[in-house]
Amino acid sequence: MIVAEALAEARKAISASEARLLLQETLGITAATLAAHPQRELGLGDAACFLALVSRRAAGEPIAYVVGRREFYGRQFAVSPAVLIPRPETELLVDIGQAKLTTCEWPRILDLGTGSGCLAVTLALATGGEVVAADLSAEALAVARDNAERLNAEVRFVVSDWYSAIDGEFDLIVANPPYVANGDPHLSEGDLRFEPAAALASGADGLTALRAIVGDARRFLRPGGWLLVEHGYDQGPAVAELLAAAGLRDIEQHRDLAGIVRVSGGIQG
Ligand code: GLN
Repeated sequence: MIVAEALAEARKAISASEARLLLQETLGITAATLAAHPQRELGLGDAACFLALVSRRAAGEPIAYVVGRREFYGRQFAVSPAVLIPRPETELLVDIGQAKLTTCEWPRILDLGTGSGCLAVTLALATGGEVVAADLSAEALAVARDNAERLNAEVRFVVSDWYSAIDGEFDLIVANPPYVANGDPHLSEGDLRFEPAAALASGADGLTALRAIVGDARRFLRPGGWLLVEHGYDQGPAVAELLAAAGLRDIEQHRDLAGIVRVSGGIQG
């Protein structure tokens, strides 16, 4: 089988761009090299491997899990079904978090529910601060640790049920926790079907994790420290109330690139 035939075969089940991507992955070559050699012969092993990837994608598995990585903030993060696939809107937490730390020389940062580690690693590299990243899932922490090592980020990883194993105070706490309501129909659509339920769904109103994270934040924030959390498209008002009830001040809400209020936060004052 030659490249052009392999791509034509894959096109019966998946999009042309994903077919090219999976063939690049299989052959370990760039998009340009693939495009330049449509007549290249595939070995039997490569052909079988490529068709196996195509059938996984055709069965609905997220492309990020099939190739084993996803870009976040300009860097490639390894992902597995043990972690949520990083989303572009979560980059907003990095931008806002960094902006809050401009006066801290060596900030202490906590990332709760780190998953792939995309927030912890990106913030560590952006600020040079001391970063602690927590997750309840040891499997997720293994993925995050691998990302931190490969990207040369210094992050301390802790198995923790939100704050249960966390000590000390921080200049910034970030979290992209599960915030989808249990039973929300989106959970049975698209990529979400394959992602860890514990990283997506959180109680009847989707706010259980956010209540825990916001509720205890003041105990773990230095004076002037910020809590910033990502939440669902319709949870802005509820999260603002949680922040106020927890005694945080200067409550802010930020819109993502789609114009949706996606990140809320407040200061320990
Ligand atoms: N933003 C994700 C989605 O709905 C949910 C991620 C999360 O719960 N943190 O696709």
